Amino acid sequence: MPDFLKHLGTEAQCEAALEQARWPQGFVCPCCRATGASVFIVGSHKMFQCRACRHQTSLTAGTLFQSTKLPLTTWFLAIYLISQEKTCLSALALKRYLGIRYPTAWFIQHKLMQAMSERETTYTLTGHVQVDDAYLGGELSGGKAGRGSENKVPFVAAVSLDDKGHPLRIKLTPVSGFTLKAISSWANANLAPNCSVSSDGLACFTAVTEAGCQHHPIVAGGRKPKELPEFLWINTNPNKFLF
Ligand SMILES: [Zn+2]
Repeated sequence: MPDFLKHLGTEAQCEAALEQARWPQGFVCPCCRATGASVFIVGSHKMFQCRACRHQTSLTAGTLFQSTKLPLTTWFLAIYLISQEKTCLSALALKRYLGIRYPTAWFIQHKLMQAMSERETTYTLTGHVQVDDAYLGGELSGGKAGRGSENKVPFVAAVSLDDKGHPLRIKLTPVSGFTLKAISSWANANLAPNCSVSSDGLACFTAVTEAGCQHHPIVAGGRKPKELPEFLWINTNPNKFLF
């Protein structure tokens, strides 16, 4: 937190970070793609006027923060808090941390989660990928654990690894069920062709081959899959998943 506040604790620092993220090579006009702008200040905000077509745009126009009345420091702190939390940060907690009204906290939370979700869909996992079946919810229902449980949402948990076996990127995708058809369509949408996929012996995971991937089922041989090194990063238990 002190480190975060040191680098992104003021409005000017947040504006500079947003400008750098949005236009790393300098201003690009959202209308005509020309570079170069005249910069002027309106209120407390920077405005950019394209030198080619004279289109005026603000730093936040067309971004997640468009038309916001909140300072960027509030948004950036919300991003920090949400991204640091291991479990989901509630809108109520966000309200308390940021000192804002509950509806505003709820709005920020949903906007950020939507942005994260949209960004995630643009990635596919590459290289070596560990996959497992996982189930979310139903903790208080007293239902059966793991596969075949009622009241739980099934999803595929997948993590891609680098050459040293360290995790790069995860994907958690709800699926209709663990059928060959569902896994085939999941693999086509989420895996790059030629991935090398490890899973336990659950039959449906053979369908990753339909997306051009190789499949390596690991047979536990009396040990629980979560005790095997092949599943180090995708270690799930019936109700909670841990990475
Ligand atoms: Zn322009």
